[in-house]
Amino acid sequence: MPHDDALSPPLVPPGGAVGVLGGGQLGRMLAGAAAQLGLKTIIYAPETDSPAADCAADTIFAAYDDEVALKRFAESVDVVTLEFENVPVKTLKTLERFGAIVAPGPKALEAAQDRAAEKTLFQSLGAATAPWRLVDNLEDLNAALRDIGTPSILKTRRFGYDGKGQARLDEETEPASAWAAVGASPAILEGFVDFEMEISVIAARGRDGAVAVYDMPRNIHADGILQKSIVPGGRLKDAESAARDIAQKTLAALDYIGVLAIEFFVAKEGGLIVNEFAPRVHNTGHWTLDACAVSQFQQHIRAVCGWPLGAPSRFADAEMENLIGAQADQWRNLAAQPDAALHLYGKAEARPGRKMGHITRLAPLGSKTQTN
Ligand code: AMP
Repeated sequence: MPHDDALSPPLVPPGGAVGVLGGGQLGRMLAGAAAQLGLKTIIYAPETDSPAADCAADTIFAAYDDEVALKRFAESVDVVTLEFENVPVKTLKTLERFGAIVAPGPKALEAAQDRAAEKTLFQSLGAATAPWRLVDNLEDLNAALRDIGTPSILKTRRFGYDGKGQARLDEETEPASAWAAVGASPAILEGFVDFEMEISVIAARGRDGAVAVYDMPRNIHADGILQKSIVPGGRLKDAESAARDIAQKTLAALDYIGVLAIEFFVAKEGGLIVNEFAPRVHNTGHWTLDACAVSQFQQHIRAVCGWPLGAPSRFADAEMENLIGAQADQWRNLAAQPDAALHLYGKAEARPGRKMGHITRLAPLGSKTQTN
């Protein structure tokens, strides 16, 4: 919805520079979106092997605690954002001390980096989560198992992604081996959700408080890694409005600026359960690059730069498939498929489990509604 100040000058006009913390494929796609709007991107990343650096005007390769490099970064950009949620909160605070405008801010990162804080946030917003208990040692795990039972999943509180830092517990599992499997680090035990499907919401909030929410995809994971996102997700009527409501509340509670993603389980017995959220653009929103006039990447750049948000509407049905590890070796065949948009991230080495690219197949709007 247009706001009164939609025509006031943006915080960062064309020609300005957006700083991105993190050097992965999400940063690469953010840089492409920024370029589309006449903006430059400067990447800040600790690792020199960076898919984002290839597409940026400049890159600072330095550690997240290198204050000299952070000062130079803060002074070179008009706004700072991130493509990786495990950037230390201290890095954001240091950048703010050096005068940078950072979005999303430390509050969102603090909640996203700790599974216990994340679950507490969603419960405070009235959203359902899987039953969970804090686990700081083996005794806690045994007590949590008495409460929650099996099947359940032990997840490290911090630094988990793509199913890493997780151990599944069944009736036969020795608690000690699960505790060892997560490196005996602070964790939570989470009840296993018998879900019908997984869905996600990608939502943006601008500096003027305007909110834009994309249609919700159904997501298919294998071994904890996203394989496919399909939109429309099918039979989502009630779940979709409940998820939009949770997204709006989350954006407001975190004073959020930019795009965030919330992943949900749709339980077999009905009801929507929050799994986790990411304070950034998200793999389950990649289809927006090809099926929407304003993708999640451009929406994020618009939001953090203080531009009006674009319409999140879609003009096609879409199925996005990740190209993981050696699947990207098929690029020639995939490039020859006329209905498929191919995206490759420029990563040299196709290690197993590594996201190398994705492909989005489009179909006329409404044509997939009956089959999902
Ligand atoms: P996460 O890293 O927590 O998003 O977990 C990765 C994937 O593992 C999820 O997308 C689900 O497919 C599965 N998973 C995680 N937690 C649960 C749970 N409590 N119940 C059922 N499946 C889960």
